[in-house]
Amino acid sequence: MMGLAEDGGLLLPRTIPRIGYETLTSWNNLSYPELAFEIMSRFIDDIPSSDLKDIINRSYATFSSEEVTPLVHHGDLHILELFHGPTLAFKDIALQFLGNLFEYLLSKNNSILNIIGATSGDTGSAAIYGVRGKERLNIFILHPHQRISRVQEKQMTTVTDQNVFNIAIRGSFDDGQAIVKTLFSDIQFKNKYSLGAINSINWARILAQVVYYVHSCLHVIGHEKDCSLDFTVPTGNFGDIFAGFIAKRMLPAGTIRQLVLATNSNDILARFVNNGDYSLSDVKITSSPSMDIQAASNFERYLYYLVDNDSPRTKELMKEFAQTGTLDLTSYQEQIRRDFVSSSVSNEEISDTISRFYKEHDYILDPHTAVGVQVAEKLKTAGVPMVCLATAHPAKFSEVVEKSIGTQPPSSDVLAGILEAPSKCEIMDADSKDIRQYISRHALQKSTRD
Ligand SMILES: *Cc1c(COP(=O)(O)O)cnc(C)c1O
Repeated sequence: MMGLAEDGGLLLPRTIPRIGYETLTSWNNLSYPELAFEIMSRFIDDIPSSDLKDIINRSYATFSSEEVTPLVHHGDLHILELFHGPTLAFKDIALQFLGNLFEYLLSKNNSILNIIGATSGDTGSAAIYGVRGKERLNIFILHPHQRISRVQEKQMTTVTDQNVFNIAIRGSFDDGQAIVKTLFSDIQFKNKYSLGAINSINWARILAQVVYYVHSCLHVIGHEKDCSLDFTVPTGNFGDIFAGFIAKRMLPAGTIRQLVLATNSNDILARFVNNGDYSLSDVKITSSPSMDIQAASNFERYLYYLVDNDSPRTKELMKEFAQTGTLDLTSYQEQIRRDFVSSSVSNEEISDTISRFYKEHDYILDPHTAVGVQVAEKLKTAGVPMVCLATAHPAKFSEVVEKSIGTQPPSSDVLAGILEAPSKCEIMDADSKDIRQYISRHALQKSTRD
């Protein structure tokens, strides 16, 4: 629940449990929620089993596919569809779980939480759908007024539950983020209203994402011993691929052979893997906007393992990066290359890949998934199954898709009627005093719950 540790660092489990080969094969016929319970219960020892099962079951009952994360096979690739949740992007897998988990813990502790966040699109709607209608939780999401897509805006503002507050600010995404930072840095305000975040550095989000890596291993290689597979992950904040890194360490050695890290032209992570150079440059606007990120918030977690579980050294390096915007990690190059391979993809290549894949396989990729597929095709090893993570439904990014294939992708039931549905949203100036006043008027109050 605390998000960051008290010294400002990220949290990790003390140890990563190992799954033996026999245990893994015994999981072969489990449903997705059953498998999620087996994996998560190895990290969670303070929630009774029946309660944890119930939280997991409710979290994945909202998915439109019974398998939750189905695999489809096209050409040489397995495509892992992670977009069957309520907002059509993979963030639902973590945030549906997190919403139920938070509600449960708040009820146990008889406390409340006011979640505040800024979004440039996807995370906001997944967070809102994670906590809508939940007890003891209010959520305030800032988005830049008229600077996100109509579908993205409507996905958020048509949620009219009384605990959801959409605020469109007259300003940019960065203005929104700066306001959120200002509010969190006011310790008195933060404590008075018990402010919380739901951003990608929460460990429970990573944990929920480990499950679909194991799920894919069971489906792609099943009972066969000594079989390996590779994963390609389109990456922005390093969260999703870090979950793969954890899964790799949990499973019998060699089960996950290689993790392929794919970036768009914001290629800081590709430069890191290929040259040991982790240095910021300007954020470029691409057709895969959910990956338009430079400093990857989960990178610190990998760094900890890279420096051999040395917290003080991790802290030192993160401090150096905060001050200089660059880290020279060439001395760790051998280890980095054992953990990942990587390549980056331009906007033009994204478009070409969507178009080519559609022609060859009659399957429509969203621009984020296309980043992964392009890199997977380039770096794939013959004879080793390759799973590409499909992180969003193509209908969510229909403009880019239409430009690439010449027709609109089929819509999803989830989006039907959304453009005409009534909205609930407050339009405000990008002024932290005004926003703070608005939040104090609408926040859950600690005292009213006692
Ligand atoms: C958030 C997001 C990503 C990037 O995931 P990270 O965990 O930040 O690496 C990729 N694709 C889509 C559609 C996303 O919403």
